[in-house]
Amino acid sequence: MRRARPYIVFFILLLLIGAVANFAISIWATGFMAGSRAWTTVTSRFTNAPAWPGPTPVPWPPATTLDETRAFAYRHLDARTVTATQSTHSMSAHELGWPLPALAKYQYWWPWDDPQWGPSSANETGIVFLWPGVLLNPFAFAIPAWILIAAPFLARNALRRSRARRGLCARCGYPIPASGACPECGAVAVKFV
Ligand SMILES: [Zn+2]
Repeated sequence: MRRARPYIVFFILLLLIGAVANFAISIWATGFMAGSRAWTTVTSRFTNAPAWPGPTPVPWPPATTLDETRAFAYRHLDARTVTATQSTHSMSAHELGWPLPALAKYQYWWPWDDPQWGPSSANETGIVFLWPGVLLNPFAFAIPAWILIAAPFLARNALRRSRARRGLCARCGYPIPASGACPECGAVAVKFV
């Protein structure tokens, strides 16, 4: 367990770096929301009766259309309830973050003068946290980074332990007496548990 400790501490350090990067990317992506950064990829979807892409202030009638725009670390969903004559309710959801959205902002439009739809509700949220993205995105960075950096050390240590168990020099693999230095490379025998 003492051997594993530096690897665990290193992983926690990578998680912290991942958490900082997660917020940096999410805040960077607000440039798409503000329109100050051009969308790099755009796809559009138009479906029947999709779910609203975020919470509604009060229960709303189902949406009838949904458009989606994507860019790196940004997804914009525009949903509406469209009747034969007009669009009565609409929601604009901005999801920020990568690979999962970690921050979001929702904007609402509804018949403001109809008391049924909550005339006093705010017509937009501030930036809100999306907890799965806040908590999981750091792992998406830390796990591959840890494997990339720690794997060579783990493999080297495993090889050295295996050589020492077989009575070979841990450094070069040459057979050595039970105690003393390696006659081949001069390394002092390293004790492995
Ligand atoms: Zn040696």
